[in-house]
Amino acid sequence: MADVRPNARPRPEPTEGARVIFLGPPGAGKGTQAGRLAGHLRIPKISTGDMLREAIAAGTALGRIAGPLMEKGGLVPDDLLDRIIGERLRMKDAQNGYILDGFPRTLRQAEGFEGMTRGDATEQFFVFNVEVPRPELLKRLSGRRWCPHCQSTYHVDNNPPKDDSLCDKDRTLLIQREDDKETAVARRLAEYDERTAPLIDYYRGRSRFHTVDGYRPPDAVFAELKGIVGGKAAS
Ligand code: AMP
Repeated sequence: MADVRPNARPRPEPTEGARVIFLGPPGAGKGTQAGRLAGHLRIPKISTGDMLREAIAAGTALGRIAGPLMEKGGLVPDDLLDRIIGERLRMKDAQNGYILDGFPRTLRQAEGFEGMTRGDATEQFFVFNVEVPRPELLKRLSGRRWCPHCQSTYHVDNNPPKDDSLCDKDRTLLIQREDDKETAVARRLAEYDERTAPLIDYYRGRSRFHTVDGYRPPDAVFAELKGIVGGKAAS
């Protein structure tokens, strides 16, 4: 709603009810950018990876199935993703837009999602395909550290915590996620190439699709994304 107080400074209104999908390999910076864009647009970021890690921490039936698959870098079965996304999208806060981080990841998921969101035309979705060269992805993933309490991520060189290896937010000891270790990373990248990369062609022709260079400082990437969702730029 516009602020109608007499002395209020006009604020640029971001795209109403934006629905955004982030595609790109692990380590491309999707989670960081999705979080920033969600704050900018004031809509929720929905990360299936975070939801699955929460299920593991809570010891639910879903978490018990997902845990061993995720540790090895494999994908969790499509029908489980359909279920958690279906439930999440029905929540009140997702009725006026959302940012998806890590979903869909297979053609089956994309088709299922399309059925689920029939009311929200896919042509209106922003789809960002974030590209980063493979050696840089490996560097980012191997240096990544994670807070098991609040799920914040850090990087030993690019974004170290202020205090040695403790989370800035809650001072939990940071760890390296099992799926950021070398063998799991190789498997995640192979899963991306085989099962997620085909979504680039799927969405290219049916959405507001943009390829974004993710091999830049996060602020530069974010500035471009903001320009696009504000309707000012296109690629
Ligand atoms: P992320 O945090 O997005 O890198 O996800 C971590 C892990 O969660 C992935 O490697 C998969 O094992 C699992 N996962 C997250 N999202 C999906 C999805 N859409 N489909 C299948 N598995 C997923």
